Amino acid sequence: MEGIQELKNLLHQPRNIVILSHRNPDGDAVGSSLGLKNLLSGGFHTCTIILPSEFPDEVSWMRGANEIIIYDKSTDIAAVKVKAADVFFCLDFNALDRIDRLGELVEAQHKPIVTIDHHLYPQDFSEILFSKTDVSSTCELVYLVAKAAGWDRTLDKDGLEALLTGIITDTGSFMYNVHPSTFDNVSELTHRGADIHYIQDRLNNHIKEKQLRLLGHCLSNRMKIWPEKKSGLIYLTKTDYQDFNIIRGDTEGIVNYLLKLHDVHVACFISEQPSINKISLRSKGNFSVEKMAKTYFKGGGHKNAAGGSAYGSLSNMITLLEKAIDENKNEIINSY
Ligand code: 5GP
Ligand code: MN
Repeated sequence: MEGIQELKNLLHQPRNIVILSHRNPDGDAVGSSLGLKNLLSGGFHTCTIILPSEFPDEVSWMRGANEIIIYDKSTDIAAVKVKAADVFFCLDFNALDRIDRLGELVEAQHKPIVTIDHHLYPQDFSEILFSKTDVSSTCELVYLVAKAAGWDRTLDKDGLEALLTGIITDTGSFMYNVHPSTFDNVSELTHRGADIHYIQDRLNNHIKEKQLRLLGHCLSNRMKIWPEKKSGLIYLTKTDYQDFNIIRGDTEGIVNYLLKLHDVHVACFISEQPSINKISLRSKGNFSVEKMAKTYFKGGGHKNAAGGSAYGSLSNMITLLEKAIDENKNEIINSY
């Protein structure tokens, strides 16, 4: 694997490593960070994980999650750690602006950056780049890098389970993003001791009552379907956020319900936030929501799962989305 020798050279001596992943971290971001930390902290290196914002409850059960430093909450501590680092690992993102100010701080240190990521079009900010888009997740790629370096046997049950968690969340429990090799790697992780039943149970059967009620509200009151354009939208207003006491992570997965519809090839989810509106886009079939996120919403991601944002009112954002869908309707209709 290209870059492995450079990685081995870089980690030949004890390093003070800071592991970073993207804002609004998901299972893959947290899983790959914890998995990599498990891989590298056998006593030789020192590893700290810093994430820009809080991770969802869905993954808070993972061992070591409580030691993760959240930049938004512990900015000073995070800055001290970043300044003391001599190697950075960037996981599950392809551009430093995905970690906001933390990215600027990292850049200012002029220390080697190793990136492990499965997003399209990685920007050039790393000394060593492991970029592969035909893998399920960054977690799977961390495992492949570990194997290529000959380090995989140092992963213990916690590390194996962290990596398996990200594979499960980024594939929607093996519904999308799966390749034949995904199953080979999952098979190895489970053979080596990762408890897939426990992970699936933790991920799927532990939501709060308010989340199920919020889902009901979204499906009953906040859903628009444009069958002639094979598209659909669920949106949430600022008031919904207050009424349902929504915190980060509570809306995870809601967008996917739209894809269950025969008549929906492109699913959209807009959340109105205090200063900016966020959009999540999903597609089934060939339509690239990554391109749509980039063109209309200053975002990015993958062909079938992408996101972005826009300033202004919620209704303007919905109008912009309608324009985006309209301009792409033929491609959307014929994509699946
Ligand atoms: P989600 O909709 O779950 O927030 O994100 C789906 C995918 O799109 C993820 O892979 C994420 O990295 C990417 N993504 C989400 N929001 C943005 C954004 O604002 N900019 C970029 N470049 N990618 C995004
Ligand atoms: Mn990912």
